[in-house]
Amino acid sequence: PRLCVVGSGPAGFYTAQHILKHHGGARVDIYEKLPVPFGLVRFGVAPDHPEVKNVINAFTQTARSERCAYYGNVTVGRDVTVAELRQAYHAVVLSYGAEDNRVLGIPGENLSGVYSARAFVGWYNGLPENRDLKPDLSCETALILGHGNVALDIARMLLSPLGLLRKTDITAGSLAALACSKVKRVWLVGRRGPLQVAFTIKELREMINLPGARPVLNPADFTGLENAVKDAPRPRKRLTELMIKTALEKPGGKVMEAQAAAPREWGLKFQRSPQEVLPTADGRRARGVRMALTRLEGSGDSAKAIPTGEVEELECGLVLSSIGYRSLPLDPAVPFDTKRSIIPNSAGRVEGVPGLYCSGWVKRGPTGVIITTMNDSFDTAQSVLEDLQVGTLDVSSPREGFGAVESILRSRGVRPISFSDWEKIDAAEVARGKAAGKPREKIVDPQEMLQLIGH
Ligand SMILES: Cc1cc2nc3c(=O)[nH]c(=O)nc-3n(C[C@H](O)[C@H](O)[C@H](O)COP(=O)(O)OP(=O)(O)OC[C@H]3O[C@@H](n4cnc5c(N)ncnc54)[C@H](O)[C@@H]3O)c2cc1C
Repeated sequence: PRLCVVGSGPAGFYTAQHILKHHGGARVDIYEKLPVPFGLVRFGVAPDHPEVKNVINAFTQTARSERCAYYGNVTVGRDVTVAELRQAYHAVVLSYGAEDNRVLGIPGENLSGVYSARAFVGWYNGLPENRDLKPDLSCETALILGHGNVALDIARMLLSPLGLLRKTDITAGSLAALACSKVKRVWLVGRRGPLQVAFTIKELREMINLPGARPVLNPADFTGLENAVKDAPRPRKRLTELMIKTALEKPGGKVMEAQAAAPREWGLKFQRSPQEVLPTADGRRARGVRMALTRLEGSGDSAKAIPTGEVEELECGLVLSSIGYRSLPLDPAVPFDTKRSIIPNSAGRVEGVPGLYCSGWVKRGPTGVIITTMNDSFDTAQSVLEDLQVGTLDVSSPREGFGAVESILRSRGVRPISFSDWEKIDAAEVARGKAAGKPREKIVDPQEMLQLIGH
């Protein structure tokens, strides 16, 4: 059978890998909108977490398989429709991730100095669409709205000593901008309390141990919490204990001295819901955020933040909203649940469209680490394999696969990029990085990538 996957992030690659491994006769083509592969592994994962990017080695193995082909620089839904792909293949798996973000929906959100976490992350990671973001880092205080790992990634990027960032694959442009940054204080603000934070212990510990930055936690937020987590699941319990320890215990000698001398600081603020981004006198820039204080109704993960009626203004010149990514509909031919922003499916089978599947963030929503995405993609691949086995997927008539798509793309003036093309770009990036002592210097302009491979 001939199958194709749309999107070359973890979901696309893990789905392809599982199908290829368990069906010796399957051929899988992977279509990717950008010239370069790997989705958020390249454009989301923080530059100072190189170990997370090792999954690229496994993806590369898959892409080099004789039964797998990669076609970059092809936007499905624009260059080729899902209907055309369904004609060309026995099955199509949609794994195109979440390319938008949730919005705050409050006045002032569009002022200069306010950015989505997605755009900011894209900027420091060299995502072509965000390469010209030029965030204004001339203020001292930044406010990050959100208590997830992405929020902590951003706080770390804003506060890390330059010497640490210099050795990562952060783009040269972002590094230069961060070198001139005046930001020395970062508040991470959430609507709910310490028991509802979404970040994980490893990322919090990294933040607490960040050289040159001092954690500022309000002891009052944490007193009495130990009892509340006594019977909580272990990860939540350990995470809360670390926050309590940081807030309530004085660190010993050396750490205390280092923290006292730290030029930068960061902290967590709880039970504050953003109401309005406040403009400077000339109405152009953000100067702060008015917060509604909240109380919690219910407990645990399902606790709701209810405004108490009290408000507070937090001063800052930079606002980063980190309240979640969001998937977009791809093509009118594909059902889409606009409320949940996912493709409606059962076990990865798109509802009402036989032969169409989905995996990853577009299947279950934009949460979960790469391992979660891997398991979910294996589940979808399993559904495909089952449907092949029981005959729900009709493979009696041959399908042309890329042959059919190639002529469509040619007629529309689209030139796909192969995996060996990517390997040339990769080699060029690694070579450029070497000169600067970095693992790679990412090329941020797609035109430059295309020139490099002679397109
Ligand atoms: C900022 C950030 C940091 C993260 N850090 C970590 C971490 O440290 N560790 C960890 O385990 N997890 C991390 N994650 C989570 C991890 O990145 C996700 O679980 C995973 O990437 C989701 O995979 P996906 O394939 O569904 O989506 P994506 O990785 O977004 O891949 C989707 C791909 O589809 C492509 N595409 C989109 N539209 C089209 C189209 N129309 N046609 C063709 N192709 C298209 C996109 O260009 C992209 O390459 C992080 C996530 C974010 C946002």
